[in-house]
Amino acid sequence: MERLLVDNNSGPKITVKVGNTIIGNGEPVFISGPCSVEEYDKMMFIGERLKEIGVHIIRGGAFKPRTSPYDFQGLHLEGIKILHEVGQKFNLPIVTEIMDARDIEKCLPFIDMIQIGSRNMYNYTLLKELGNYEIPILLKRGISATVSEWLYAAEYIMSSGNKNVVLCERGIRTFETYTRNTLDLNSVVAIKQNYRLPVIVDPSHGTGRRELVAPMSLAAIACGADGLMIESHITPDNALSDARQTINLDCLEGIVNKVNKLKELI
Ligand code: PEP
Ligand code: MN
Repeated sequence: MERLLVDNNSGPKITVKVGNTIIGNGEPVFISGPCSVEEYDKMMFIGERLKEIGVHIIRGGAFKPRTSPYDFQGLHLEGIKILHEVGQKFNLPIVTEIMDARDIEKCLPFIDMIQIGSRNMYNYTLLKELGNYEIPILLKRGISATVSEWLYAAEYIMSSGNKNVVLCERGIRTFETYTRNTLDLNSVVAIKQNYRLPVIVDPSHGTGRRELVAPMSLAAIACGADGLMIESHITPDNALSDARQTINLDCLEGIVNKVNKLKELI
């Protein structure tokens, strides 16, 4: 069997720097913001609260991989520029999804981390292309990817030259329909024990239900996750996408405080 760059025995644990935030150094990292980048004023308001709460990185999708082509597809480059302005104003690095290699160059000046979404985890052409850059990559687990397939996806990016990869467990599709996905925290433990990459957890997509987000955030940190990515909004019911799983900013503040206390205990 080949020796993999992701394996523990290939070197020390990897930490990834996004702006001034380091992912994988033992301190929990919080990434939050709406599913989709929305209007400028709303994003400014959200950014200000996120900074106060202690969130490290702001998220927001501008290229949205929606199941239906008739749903809101995102504000594209305009949205990325809005997110960039918010990030500059509140000193928050930004992460956003890129779906098409042709969009990388034009977005690069405005962003600090590229998200590869669940639907693109198997897009090996895109993964290899990302190896040509140094920008940190947040690699979400494919909807029905095994841990091994997910790690090989990371290997595609790393073996092409970019070692700044952070994994994100976002739940997998199972026979269960109560939740949108089944949040597989086993994967977090397996990865922390055997592999070098940092791994964060997205309990928003992992559950699809906002009332499950706080408890599963604590569970994720308790089992060793390096951070959380949580969808939040000032008025979650009005969010342009993923409203049902989006929490308000007070709820987010509660999670950040509890996680920081939990971290002292473990
Ligand atoms: C998202 O983060 O909004 C998203 C689309 O995530 P995923 O690719 O995990 O579905
Ligand atoms: Mn979403």
